[in-house]
Amino acid sequence: MKVLVAEKCGFCLGVKNAINMAKKTLADRDVVYSLGSIIHNQDVVNELASDGLETVESVDQIESGTVLIRSHGATKDQLEAIKEKELEIVDATCVLVKRLQKISQSLNQDGYKVAMIGDENHPEVQAIVGFSDDIVVIGSSDDLEKLSSHEKLGIICQTTQTPEYFGEMLANIVKKGFSELKVINTLCKEAIKRQESAVKLCRQVDIMFVLGGLHSANTRKLAELCKKYNNQTFHLQNWDELDKTVLSGKGIAGVTAGASTPDRVISEFVENLKAYKGSEK
Ligand code: SF4
Repeated sequence: MKVLVAEKCGFCLGVKNAINMAKKTLADRDVVYSLGSIIHNQDVVNELASDGLETVESVDQIESGTVLIRSHGATKDQLEAIKEKELEIVDATCVLVKRLQKISQSLNQDGYKVAMIGDENHPEVQAIVGFSDDIVVIGSSDDLEKLSSHEKLGIICQTTQTPEYFGEMLANIVKKGFSELKVINTLCKEAIKRQESAVKLCRQVDIMFVLGGLHSANTRKLAELCKKYNNQTFHLQNWDELDKTVLSGKGIAGVTAGASTPDRVISEFVENLKAYKGSEK
């Protein structure tokens, strides 16, 4: 089968940095705690766990030692709890997420209520909320009811949303008649490049595969976008999850992957797909 791979896909700089920092920290410590999974990929999590990276959901589970802050960042409450327990911090928060935290704080200081467009359950958004005194998360147009049109509104966006979605939500906000709006583009260029190359590729192929964790926001966004332009799009974690019957009658396949998908998962998938002759089930 002919297989084309998206120009930009796989690990982003923020994820690469977090994994490198974890490995470096584990080199001279027996155990390091990660507040939440370091990335949305179980193989990488398991591999680092065998080197001593223990994933915990709360600071309460840590008595002493070193805690790694993943690329999504941590909430203000979590950071305060870490300081109170005098734990050592290794901060792998992505620089773009840090920028977002600072922007949100400075908008509040300048008298703007912050409207953050994004998913309130995503750890990155939760971390930003914890860093801001006056913020509302806008997950859909219905959430705009939480805002008063007299307010000075500062608008930011979760890093991995699409420019189209950001624009659509901005248009809805403008229609509400707020007295003053200040919009800061906080989208991640790495995520946008992955979205653009996925869309370009999915339009040229018979079937499109998006590889990555089912809970990974940026991978889900890639799959959502590709489905818009190619209804033969499948979001899978790896080759083992592929139901081979979907390949029947297809000549060219496209492959892309989220920012937390390791290169080896992508190359294994691509090589198996290239070698696929149609007899496997
Ligand atoms: S997707 Fe962008 S914002 Fe998120 S960790 Fe990667 S580089 Fe940072």
